[in-house]
Amino acid sequence: MTDTMREIVLKGVPISRGIAIGKAFIFALSNDDAPEFNIAADDIDHEISRYQKAVENSKKDVLRLQAKLKEECIEEGAEILDAQIQIMQDPLLTVSVETEIRRTRKNAEFVFDSLIKKYQKRFQSIKDAFFRERFKDIQDISRRVAAYLKESIRVSLVDIPPGSVVIAEDLTASEAAEANSRDVCGFITQNGGATSHAAIVAKAKGIPYVSCQGIAEIELEENNINIIVDGRKGEIIINPTAETLSTYETIRNDVNHHLTKLQKVESLASETYDGYTIKLSANLEMVNEIDLIRANGSHGVGLFRSEYIFLASEEFPPEDIQFEIYKRVVEKLDNLPIVIRTFDVGGDKLLKNQPIPEKGNPFLGCRALRFLLNEREIFKSQLKAILRAGVYGDVSILFPMVSALNELIEAKALLEEAKEDLRMRSEEFVENVKVGCMIEVPSAAVISDLLASECDFLSIGTNDLVQYSLAVDRGNHNLQKYYSPTHPSVLRLIKMVVSEANIHGIPVSVCGEIASDPRFTPLLLGLGVHELSLATRFLPTIKNAVRNTSIVAATQLAEKVLTLSSAEEIMNLLTEEYQNNVPEDCFYNY
Ligand code: PEP
Ligand code: MG
Repeated sequence: MTDTMREIVLKGVPISRGIAIGKAFIFALSNDDAPEFNIAADDIDHEISRYQKAVENSKKDVLRLQAKLKEECIEEGAEILDAQIQIMQDPLLTVSVETEIRRTRKNAEFVFDSLIKKYQKRFQSIKDAFFRERFKDIQDISRRVAAYLKESIRVSLVDIPPGSVVIAEDLTASEAAEANSRDVCGFITQNGGATSHAAIVAKAKGIPYVSCQGIAEIELEENNINIIVDGRKGEIIINPTAETLSTYETIRNDVNHHLTKLQKVESLASETYDGYTIKLSANLEMVNEIDLIRANGSHGVGLFRSEYIFLASEEFPPEDIQFEIYKRVVEKLDNLPIVIRTFDVGGDKLLKNQPIPEKGNPFLGCRALRFLLNEREIFKSQLKAILRAGVYGDVSILFPMVSALNELIEAKALLEEAKEDLRMRSEEFVENVKVGCMIEVPSAAVISDLLASECDFLSIGTNDLVQYSLAVDRGNHNLQKYYSPTHPSVLRLIKMVVSEANIHGIPVSVCGEIASDPRFTPLLLGLGVHELSLATRFLPTIKNAVRNTSIVAATQLAEKVLTLSSAEEIMNLLTEEYQNNVPEDCFYNY
């Protein structure tokens, strides 16, 4: 992109609210060509070693695959892989690439991709079908090596220049988690939905985020171009004019001013204007957010997504390390309650070394409690660490993604085993810990009566409940129009769960992203939800919404909503009500 390039406005999907004005930082964009950039003379050795590691890892993969094929007596396949291993030792993949990196001072993936393309041309001109087929092996290997290179280039979000707007094809939850909000002022990805786990982290950190397929079409090969992320409207402005910049600076100041004004509600009670107390708790992902939780007047932690602290690790940490972390969090809360959710891994949350599931849709696979019930030792060591930390405060345990009663019963049995182990070790722990069940799958909502009779509280995870009820991948922004938390089926499920919790006399809360959207506050209250757990940053906004509604009005609104038949109609009604009742917040432009 050149300085003479005009301002470009792209429309995308809003993921995390707020305005970011910064410099483009291209993290990794996907198009068919490998990214091309220059390497400083001092970095050439590092670049070559990055490349060598990628080849080494690819070789290990192929050897592993070969051993597996041999074990399954698929000799022919194993021989084909022999050919691939030979190719990887070929100077084509070793000396030539290294020499070219030194000569051209270009990045490894670009050099590698150029050489592969050259070979492709040569192979295509060969008449012999056997040799033409051999090129498929080279392609196969090159894809592997390219994937490893891409991975190795993506580990560097930790130390990027301050004021960066990170642009990537996609972001994982751990990448978003390691981004420092002092340096990263905005995110733009080609893919990614509003309730993807990367989105949740961005919201928790207050980093504006827009996903926009069109970003890959723009020639942004240089970093440092001015870029604006409008997380309210879902717009990106590349190379803004001085006038646009000044307009956005004013909007950003207005937003900050509004947020400062909202902070005033922090010290006020969280109650409706007809006097009902609504418990507002915080969702916690990163341990260092804990100080904010107290400052924002939260009732405690309603959902501690424990898996986040370990996503950047190679493996699950041992019980003692977990214990130390949980204990620190619990002590910092100084007797405010905390609900620790056991690891919800799988889906879009994987540990660094966790193998990516080979088959199908990981969100429908071995995720959360299913994973834990398969990996009983991992599960039990987490339970033991939580039980021990429980001695230092008010701790409850929450099981994620329960889909059947027997899973809850099995998990509770393991909890008893964990207690027994601790007794045998004469370890101090909390005996009467409360156990809750997440309602995130329609099957769980429909049997919420059965689940409620087996646990102490329910927590409705609407991010997944919407995804699984409506069969819409929460991370796919192309499907956002189908991802409707106001779909009547979702609202009926919520109502059903709340009624069952009431019948069984146990508390129920909502901890999905709708809990942080003030348009939903009166509806949820009207459906009987009196506890919400949400990103700390939005606590003042939601408290403001609570204080601007009455239970009577909320109940009437919920009754009306339940007579409506389309998600869009309901969303419009909620927006209208919100704008009428909380006019000072309208510039959020919902
Ligand atoms: C949810 O699904 O709503 C939820 C709170 O869990 P997570 O977003 O971590 O999947
Ligand atoms: Mg969930």
